Amino acid sequence: MALIDLRGIGKYYGGEDGSPLADVLRGIDLEIDAGEFVAIVGASGSGKSTLMHILGCLDRPTSGQYLFNGVDVTTLNNDQLAGLRRETFGFVFQAYHLIPTESARENVEVPALYAGVSNAARQARATELLRHLGLADRLDNYPSQLSGGQQQRVSIARALMNGGQVILADEPTGALDSETGEGVMTLLGDLAASGHTVILITHDHQLAERAQRIIQIQDGRIVGDRPTSHEGGSNKPVGDRKHDNRAWSKPNSDNRSRLPREELRDAWRVLQRNHARTLLTILGIIIGVASVIVMLAVGEGTKREVMAQLNAMGPNMLHVGSTIPTTGGPRGVITDADLDAIARMPAVQRSMPMLRDTALVRRGAISRNYEIRATTAVLPEMNRWPLAQGRFYTEEEDRNVAPVVVLGHLAYQRFFPDKSDPLGEQILIKNAPYQIIGVMSEKGAESGYNNHDERLYVPRRTGMVRVFPEQRNETYLIVEVVSSDLLQHAEQRLQALLLERHGVDDFWVNNAAARHQAELTTRNNMTLMLALIAAISLLVGGIGVMNVMLMSVRERVREIGIRMASGARQRDILRQFITEAALVSLLGSVIGATSSQVIIVILALTGVPVAFSISPVVGAMICAVTTGILFGLMPARQAARLDPVVALAGE
Ligand code: ADP
Ligand code: MG
Repeated sequence: MALIDLRGIGKYYGGEDGSPLADVLRGIDLEIDAGEFVAIVGASGSGKSTLMHILGCLDRPTSGQYLFNGVDVTTLNNDQLAGLRRETFGFVFQAYHLIPTESARENVEVPALYAGVSNAARQARATELLRHLGLADRLDNYPSQLSGGQQQRVSIARALMNGGQVILADEPTGALDSETGEGVMTLLGDLAASGHTVILITHDHQLAERAQRIIQIQDGRIVGDRPTSHEGGSNKPVGDRKHDNRAWSKPNSDNRSRLPREELRDAWRVLQRNHARTLLTILGIIIGVASVIVMLAVGEGTKREVMAQLNAMGPNMLHVGSTIPTTGGPRGVITDADLDAIARMPAVQRSMPMLRDTALVRRGAISRNYEIRATTAVLPEMNRWPLAQGRFYTEEEDRNVAPVVVLGHLAYQRFFPDKSDPLGEQILIKNAPYQIIGVMSEKGAESGYNNHDERLYVPRRTGMVRVFPEQRNETYLIVEVVSSDLLQHAEQRLQALLLERHGVDDFWVNNAAARHQAELTTRNNMTLMLALIAAISLLVGGIGVMNVMLMSVRERVREIGIRMASGARQRDILRQFITEAALVSLLGSVIGATSSQVIIVILALTGVPVAFSISPVVGAMICAVTTGILFGLMPARQAARLDPVVALAGE
């Protein structure tokens, strides 16, 4: 059985969309045995390269059968063809087709990358091959730093990397001077002598004579097939024979792809090489990610602040106080009769008059001015503020002007630094003794104002009679409305009621809850809008990634073709470009997330309410990377779907 068996292979181009039909190959029948050194000769345009592409499984014939080792390759899928190229074929092109951005050794390593060979084994093999081809001192040179002959030797080393059972050389000396070309021809002869099947394509009949057999092609047909007297090369073995056995590439089973680490390294190098472009691309992502995170942090921070104020006040609350009327005259007084009238309003659930002033408070050696609040027994209930110790005063104690006091949390800590039991202890307010009956729980942490905790509370009448006998009017009044829907209605009714009773506008009604509610809604909407704008900028960043990836694919069409000829599967190419997109967006999102935290810290230091939380950071980063990958997918697929022959011919 012949290694290569072509039966009636035909190839034509065009014809479908009205373009002229180009019949390039017309029924090629050809058998080539393993180990043969065959030259295919013919005039330019006779179809030699087309035939070589079909032989090397880079292209599919339009008609006929191609049996390789007895397997009909026309029935194989793209991945299987890639596998065959990877494991069996080595290509040597007239234009060398080295990847310009990789060193000589890395170029030689490419076929082994797609075979999943480990880094160390790959490097060792590539180094050895290059040394055998006389390039030991050129390992790290880039193609542009090598002469034509040297480049062609690198490409021969690459063809041998995975074993190179069949070497397909298309005009390998076409771009070389005769002396260098001679060297390459000797090399090919040596390869043939050491067991490789070598198929040399040339228009030069003299060169063809170096082969053992000459096949002549003309207008897509074989017109001659004869043996030469030649025995082949100089019988000097090329490469280390022990590496040439098939076992060397066996761990490269078909399912193994390139190693992720290598992909990341390559992607990183591409980004590094185009660092200006990379920087501009990731700038979009950085701005997108940073702004999303900062917007959400500021939004959440202000929301928490407003909520805290709302909580501290309790919902459905109106504040009422007296003031000097705008028309002049004495300060208004909210009388007990006013309080009764307000309490009788149907929309009012309950109300709490509040008297406040500061007074010197003393216990033992500790003395300090404190805000004293005198109010009714409903305070803990109305403010939703439980006690930490003891109890609050009762209505009866209020009526009886009882000398009792409840301490705020911080006031307790101040007067009882040893945290001993304060209940039943005496404390002096304006030098008069009051009995401590309770300590309020800590409010500061939740409300955002710890001055609540810095106060002392006494019954209203105790305050009026004992603590501030000189102060007659209520400082202010807190009114709880039945439901929040009635808040505005109650506010208007209260104003009307007091105006009617006082005759002048010497009071104020403050609907702080409603204002806070409205503020909360506005801020929520604003946060949403800003986050949306930020998300759009993230999207724009994603489009930037797509743009760069499209450019990158276009620039590297030839490279993609070379990789495909070296055995890269479609998914290898896909992964290569997706890895680049993912790396760009990951880089951008890491920098974006980091800068967002710096911005948030700066904002916090300047007093802007911000909330630190990890979920927007993680969310924005995931979004950015996903966006990058999604937008990178289209260019990557475009690259993966390139036809190897078209890609190789690409600019
Ligand atoms: P050779 O390598 O012998 O010089 P080729 O195999 O490159 O010849 O090309 C053989 C013929 O096929 C040429 O006439 C060329 O114009 C034609 N040909 C090659 N590729 C295409 C294509 N993609 N579409 C149309 N015609 C093509
Ligand atoms: Mg050609």
